[in-house]
Amino acid sequence: MTHSLQALDRAYHLHPFTDFKALGEEGSRLIERAEGVYIFDAEGNRILDGMAGLWCVNLGYGREELVTAAAEQMRQLPYYNTFFKTTHPPAVKLAEKLCALAPEHLNHVFFTGSGSEANDTVLRMVRRYWALEGRPEKQWVIGRENGYHGSTVAGMSLGGMAPMHDQGGPGVPGITHVRQPYWFGEGRDQDPEAFGRQCAAALETKIQELGEARVAAFIAEPVQGAGGAIMPPESYWPAVKAVLAKYDILLVVDEVICGFGRLGEWFGSVHFDLAPDLMPIAKGLSSGYLPIGGVLVGDRVADTLIEEGGEFFHGFTYSGHPVCAAVALKNLELMETEGVVERVRDELGPYLARRWATLGDHPLVGEARSLGLMGALELIDPATGERFDKALAAGNLCRDISFRHGLVMRSVGDTMIIAPPLVITCEQIDDLVTLAREALDETARCLAASVADEPQPEERPA
Ligand code: PMP
Repeated sequence: MTHSLQALDRAYHLHPFTDFKALGEEGSRLIERAEGVYIFDAEGNRILDGMAGLWCVNLGYGREELVTAAAEQMRQLPYYNTFFKTTHPPAVKLAEKLCALAPEHLNHVFFTGSGSEANDTVLRMVRRYWALEGRPEKQWVIGRENGYHGSTVAGMSLGGMAPMHDQGGPGVPGITHVRQPYWFGEGRDQDPEAFGRQCAAALETKIQELGEARVAAFIAEPVQGAGGAIMPPESYWPAVKAVLAKYDILLVVDEVICGFGRLGEWFGSVHFDLAPDLMPIAKGLSSGYLPIGGVLVGDRVADTLIEEGGEFFHGFTYSGHPVCAAVALKNLELMETEGVVERVRDELGPYLARRWATLGDHPLVGEARSLGLMGALELIDPATGERFDKALAAGNLCRDISFRHGLVMRSVGDTMIIAPPLVITCEQIDDLVTLAREALDETARCLAASVADEPQPEERPA
């Protein structure tokens, strides 16, 4: 059965973010079930899910309360839309709950089916807002290099991932990118705080190049997630806020990953003291049990859209889907009653920080950093202290070895990332760190062997 499913997968299924040909040759892993912080594959192997699925299963797997919420809502009202002037209890209650949890000025929500759709919505709202304000020349939106904001054309355009742009054809016009505050990757020769200020200064330079009056918004994650769990230097956000205020530019904080407890607050914006005008959300909103996203809209933008806007020609069939909304609401209620976010802030985040930092002494690790329950390891060649040759694909090797050892870690180039479910225990964090170290050890052995196997320079053909 297992083999036949894998054969069918090879034959028919094109996986996201995957080399189709390599998948056809190597096949995929079949994940059959999950419980708590563990997933189980078809061979019965138990694997610690160090990535909470795709940064979303915050409450962990197997939560009966969420299953019951979905089943009850499916019986009651499996679907109805929120277009025109209809609504239903789950959408209303979820909207109220989100606005109660979010920073004070975020008092409205527009629901979507995913994070990508949330960012499409953001782009349209931002431009519409400035048009309604009588400033239609404010069209440009600035994102960050290596940022990820989704896979729709607008999401891809707002994001700054070069391979996506290379394959995506021309993106949405009027979007550009500035440098990311990635100290280890791009600023290691400098003091981190000076580097953070320099990145904010690059934003100001870009605004001046585009024309001070023509920039509508800046979009960024509090901590760049898919780009490599990049925690900015402390100087970065205050300096960016000052630049945006100076030119009256809207701030969009993409909380699709950082929202709902990942960094030890309900929103990453709270951790970094940001007051976003718009806040796209998804993933942890329902702990990934069902697809749902949205945009939390601050008073400034909402007041104009409501008072001046008339009909907003925008929406999705599944905006505020009743079953997804019921599950999201239950998820947030459980997180509140179980004190999940406070536990990440006060106990699990600091514990992970201590334990994760111990990996910094591994010869393969140039930096071990974490914030809340998000961590990264920067792999380096112990012989040089620099990055490995890209052709060695050290990060992917480490990811695959780690999986075989029983831990899901993600690789972004040679940066290894973890973001486990927020219900992980301290003992499970210990296991995670032990498994990560084993994976690093074996990766080091494999890389040493592959370098030793290579012909020495003098033996190379001319
Ligand atoms: N924004 C960020 C920051 C994300 O990490 C993601 C997904 N990884 C998205 C948006 C897109 O969300 P979705 O995949 O639900 O469309």
